[in-house]
Amino acid sequence: MSTATAPAATGGEPLVAYDDATARYDVVIGLEVHVELGTATKMFDGSSTAFGAEPNTQVSPVSLGLPGALPVVNRTAVEHGIRIGLALDCTIAEMCRFARKNYFYPDMPKNFQTSQYDEPIAADGHLDVVLEDGTPWRVEVERAHLEEDTGKSTHVGGATGRIHGADHSLVDYNRAGIPLVEIVTRPVTGAGARAPEVARAYVAALRDLLRALGVSEARMEQGQMRADVNVSLRPSPDAPLGTRTETKNVNSFRSVERAVRYEVSRQAAVLDAGGSVLQETRHWHEDTGITTSGRVKSDADDYRYFPEPDLVPMTPSRAWVEEVRASLPELPVARRARLQAEWGYSDLEMRDVVNAGLLDVISATVAQGASPAAARKWWGGELARTANAREVEVTALPVGPAEVAELAGLVESGRVTDRMAREVLEGVLAGEGTPTEVVTARGLEVVSDESALVTAVDEALAANPDVAEKIRGGKVQAAGAVVGAVMKATRGAADAKRVRELVLERVGGPQA
Ligand code: ADP
Ligand code: MG
Repeated sequence: MSTATAPAATGGEPLVAYDDATARYDVVIGLEVHVELGTATKMFDGSSTAFGAEPNTQVSPVSLGLPGALPVVNRTAVEHGIRIGLALDCTIAEMCRFARKNYFYPDMPKNFQTSQYDEPIAADGHLDVVLEDGTPWRVEVERAHLEEDTGKSTHVGGATGRIHGADHSLVDYNRAGIPLVEIVTRPVTGAGARAPEVARAYVAALRDLLRALGVSEARMEQGQMRADVNVSLRPSPDAPLGTRTETKNVNSFRSVERAVRYEVSRQAAVLDAGGSVLQETRHWHEDTGITTSGRVKSDADDYRYFPEPDLVPMTPSRAWVEEVRASLPELPVARRARLQAEWGYSDLEMRDVVNAGLLDVISATVAQGASPAAARKWWGGELARTANAREVEVTALPVGPAEVAELAGLVESGRVTDRMAREVLEGVLAGEGTPTEVVTARGLEVVSDESALVTAVDEALAANPDVAEKIRGGKVQAAGAVVGAVMKATRGAADAKRVRELVLERVGGPQA
């Protein structure tokens, strides 16, 4: 069998072409997503969680792990945990406990992380996602548990920013103790070659869900949401699961997809060569798109988990859980279905809108009075193209839902033609003002003054004497030339339909 192995261009390990790899191996993935909860204070003490403060100014004896300091559970964080669990259709534990996960790392001053282990707050749920071509996919969720973040180390003086080669390291404990929820999927099987796409769609859907729930801004680029990507291969879908690697802290949707693809190609090369995949954590390198070996993964036993003696077990009352359930907002999947029905979009139109990230702006534009069709036309067309050309998100354009709704209104009322509206939009994008201001400033209004139109038609007819004759002789389509001449003379500012009527009227030929 051709192995098609080749060393990675960037000095990585041998790789098998992705399609060859998935033709020979079945891909299994699993995702662990950490989310920082948007609470005002930390998980076990009253320190602020505000982002961007001077290092080590938002700490307390608890988050610094000082001897004798006692933790107190943050009720809002627990409620957020319940909220996430319910939105993922999980069962909320009647009783659950925190545990100590023991290990040493300088960014964790207690030498243990207070986390939930075998008794998570939420378990056995799922998240339904939609792949780009519209295929629905259910990802099973094993559990969602509460824990705390670690501090942040900065390694100074090396070339890579990693500890190897650094002169010294700095630690900031502001992040230590920020509430986290970790959401862990069951192994995702059956996706085969589409596994990278499923991974990306899942993380994207989870981000949308968390935002809709109001529990986190879930900004991956700020580290508020981070994904650990587990990947394994097996010879066939009915073989036992293969050994997985866990690529840590992948921080964009695109990188999640790329990291899975890379590991598939890399592991296939290892297996093709008769080797076995090492169970280890790996680092993701955004710049080169490769993963490199991290540490050999500890078994759970090595952490010597035991129940946290300083905290009593939590027993969220059923009344509380039901209260939280009743307060859940409309979830993204339901919202999407509702909007599609309200707007009358086809499946394909809706999918394009969602994939292009236009749902919210279109919704806001419709709320400002535009028709759903017009909102989609402008955002999905002209504005998406402009954003693309400028390499920014549509939401970063200097045009918002209010301007687009205003523009759509101008077209609808007949004040500007569709073609003129494009010019108006150009003016708005160039910072010339609101659509109405641009219409005035650029003189882009439709000529609705009948006498001016009649004059223009007469002039055009005079310049094309043969046309009048043809029309009178029954060749109505000859009117097109005169309509064109009038449109040109008015720089497109006339209503073509009305011009055509006028041409036929003035010639006195058959009415069309
Ligand atoms: P750990 O704490 O060691 O990372 P977790 O149970 O928290 O273990 O998470 C492991 C993740 O890897 C889960 O999402 C799980 O579904 C997934 N997983 C487990 N076994 C495999 C496998 N063989 N291949 C791919 N993913 C796997
Ligand atoms: Mg884990």
